[in-house]
Amino acid sequence: LVILGIETSCDDTAAAVVRSNGEILSQVVSSQADLLARYGGVAPKMAEEAHAQVIDKVVQEALDKANVKELDLSAVAVTIGPGLSLCLRVGVQKARKIAGSFNLPMVGVHHMEAHALVARLTEQELQFPFMALLISGGHNLLILARDLGQYVQLGTTIDDAIGEAYDKTAKWLGLDLRRSGGPAVEELAREGDAESVKFSVPMKQHKDCNFSYAGLKTQVRLAIESRNVSTEIPISSASSEDRSSRADIAASFQRVAVLHLEERCERAVEWALKIEPSIKYLVVSGGVASNQYVRARLNQVVKKKGLELVCPPPSLCTDNGVMIAWTGIEHFRVGRFDPPPPADEAEDTILDLRPRWPLGEEYAEGKSEAR
Ligand code: ATP
Ligand code: FE
Repeated sequence: LVILGIETSCDDTAAAVVRSNGEILSQVVSSQADLLARYGGVAPKMAEEAHAQVIDKVVQEALDKANVKELDLSAVAVTIGPGLSLCLRVGVQKARKIAGSFNLPMVGVHHMEAHALVARLTEQELQFPFMALLISGGHNLLILARDLGQYVQLGTTIDDAIGEAYDKTAKWLGLDLRRSGGPAVEELAREGDAESVKFSVPMKQHKDCNFSYAGLKTQVRLAIESRNVSTEIPISSASSEDRSSRADIAASFQRVAVLHLEERCERAVEWALKIEPSIKYLVVSGGVASNQYVRARLNQVVKKKGLELVCPPPSLCTDNGVMIAWTGIEHFRVGRFDPPPPADEAEDTILDLRPRWPLGEEYAEGKSEAR
């Protein structure tokens, strides 16, 4: 099988061609980071236009680099949710156009399922059931993957995701946002003293596996205000004293943000083992999983619990088309796909988009079975 994957759910336009043996034939990502940096955030309409501008080019480049023609494809996979409708629509329309013109089946993909399943491309040993911690800009999920398409949600965020906290921290610390905030905070944190600012770990009193990052965000903002860090000045022109003050905040934030992950993962492993005693792996994926400190800390937790950590390479942790193509392959080979759309489909056809789309059922603690 050879599948084309298309991703436009958020602020990256991505496409890739992947073979069912796990061979990545091409991978193209066009990022809106510049837009983000210029406007300090992205409005849905702006993001939609940015996707629309590059989608044809990105897909063509993915096919060209893979040296594959549309007719060589077995199917087209595309993210149908969760995400911004306006953005999802651009990818889905493009996918339907190709599938319609070349009579190809389609697979509608769940963006977060794709973040988790891509680990099965990079780690061939990874069998169901396994656990996954999915940490990105919009999601903070702890999942037990029992089988393909069968997920139990052990925890989610009650407000913000960790990536959002990294992004705001980067912005408030005056870091260079031309790439996303996370890597900038990670880098600056290396210079700082992680014990210097006393942030409190979120949700200590809640003995569950949910997350909260809104309070930590506020703590960071208050710390910046009370320390006279002049964040109007970009970090590149800060005095060395100012710079080290910012680094201390970055390091202290990161330590506590990740401690929160560690605590929740530890409990989640206990919960998951009650449901599926045979699990051996915790997958950590999503943009924040490209962070080296996050990986190292979670590796400790997972080892202590007798499991193994599986982390896709950074380029497959942040949004990409490979994970969409791969998830398409996983579903396609068990017969889960849609027939080709009509070749002459009208532009205003109502599309099956799922902007809000939970991944699996919630686990009610105390029950021995999740369903
Ligand atoms: P979602 O997957 O929830 O829809 P998204 O698709 O925007 O959100 P991803 O591309 O999966 O998110 O991840 C982007 C997030 O990952 C951003 O918040 C970014 O700051 C964060 N991130 C990327 N690299 C790092 C890093 N090295 N350290 C911390 N955070 C990082
Ligand atoms: Fe994502």
